[in-house]
Amino acid sequence: SVRVRFAPSPTGFVHIGSLRTALYNYLLAKKHGGKYVLRIEDTDQSRLVEGAIENLLSSMDWASINHDEGIAIRDGELVEKGEYGPYIQSHRLEIYKKYIQGLLDSGDAYPCFCSKERLEEIREKQKSLGLTAKYDGHCKSLTKNEIQEKIQAGEPYVIRLKLPVNKNIEFDDAVRGKVVVNSDEVDDQVLIKSDGFPTYHFAVVVDDYLMKITHVIRGEEWLPSTPKHVYLYEVLGWKVPQFVHLPNILNTEKKKLSKRQGDVAVEDFMKKGYLPEALVNYVALIGWSPEENKEIFSMKELEEKFSLDRVSKSGGVFDVNKLNWMNNHYIKEGAIERITDLAIPYLIEAAYITETEAGEKHEWLQDMVSVVKDSIDYMQQIVEKVDIFFKKDAKPEDEEAEEILKQDYVGELLQAFREKLETAEAIDQENVKKIFKEIQKEKGIKGPNLFKPIRVAITGKAHGPDLPLIMKVLGRQNLLYRIEYVIS
Ligand code: GLU
Repeated sequence: SVRVRFAPSPTGFVHIGSLRTALYNYLLAKKHGGKYVLRIEDTDQSRLVEGAIENLLSSMDWASINHDEGIAIRDGELVEKGEYGPYIQSHRLEIYKKYIQGLLDSGDAYPCFCSKERLEEIREKQKSLGLTAKYDGHCKSLTKNEIQEKIQAGEPYVIRLKLPVNKNIEFDDAVRGKVVVNSDEVDDQVLIKSDGFPTYHFAVVVDDYLMKITHVIRGEEWLPSTPKHVYLYEVLGWKVPQFVHLPNILNTEKKKLSKRQGDVAVEDFMKKGYLPEALVNYVALIGWSPEENKEIFSMKELEEKFSLDRVSKSGGVFDVNKLNWMNNHYIKEGAIERITDLAIPYLIEAAYITETEAGEKHEWLQDMVSVVKDSIDYMQQIVEKVDIFFKKDAKPEDEEAEEILKQDYVGELLQAFREKLETAEAIDQENVKKIFKEIQKEKGIKGPNLFKPIRVAITGKAHGPDLPLIMKVLGRQNLLYRIEYVIS
């Protein structure tokens, strides 16, 4: 059965590309009733970031990309779940030791005592000759005795993979088809570092094998490393998994998406108030295309429809405008209770309401949110959209608005409007519509001539959403105050 894994290094935030890798793994497992494993690749101890694992888990949880095996947090503690653990590589050092010993014994790996300075020198020389940098095999032919002596003398060393000369290494990639690379173009990869930790390249092969991974789905940046992995599988006598290298995610200028160009971290989108199902839906479509011509997919639908043969070879573009469009769609469709709950933290942060008010005035808040929700791309934008409900007065905010109020008939109109507001039974949509009809009948003012001055008077803006609902949310006191302000 299908077993896949997402294997991030806990180096901080979750890049949108990692979210997609996790998602595709998850979807493939779901589609085939398989298992999705979350493994932490923390063998590069210098790159670890405090709290990164917790952050990763909460981002995945937010996106509902739930793993079957791996690590989890229970009662504030990091725990393992699943029978192939430990799922954190730094907890598996004994395992790697065992397998590296096997490779040393079989002669497929060798200790290398070359200093940093020497390696640097080779690299410089090769570069100046226009060659790709590659270890020159200096330590490959050390005798057992020489090795023994050096180790006893306490010389630091790494352990390298011993690649054969001029051998074609082949593998199949589900996206790119057959890939062939000659071993002469591949470096004798360091498998164990001088601190005794394995490198990614060694740990990934051992773990994918021991965790019975059937499909390795990961970013295209790992494609050049795959020949080394494939050769390791070969010398270890293990069956290679199916490789699936996902195309890069590009920005709208077709360059690799990076942090410098704005938001690329899942956390950035969480903070701005994107809906998880929108981000997941959007990210699913970067590099994969469904059979039918449609763009809105729930997680359930993605689980049914996802297939590797529709993953594209060429880079997918991350277009934030498209994401915004999609997120707006989900906000519009979202249940008003939920959207209001999502809005509340932003309203509290903007000091529009307190925590207590958020509870007490929930119904009023729902009305307010429903006035503006169709016009926002992400929840954070609600703050500027609802400012009219929290300011005391509503000065015309631009020239267009000012001009509207300068027209001769406006005084008379607002006067009549005020009287009706004062005597209306209640200020709700129905009564407001009634008021508009009456004014139209009595004063002969209608359409934009009627609505525009009222809108500017009560909101300060020449354009905006549905007036009756705005008026209901503002309430009688506020409306009268604002009309008064314009008339006087
Ligand atoms: N730890 C690697 C990363 O951070 C995982 C690569 C792989 O999936 O093999 O991307």
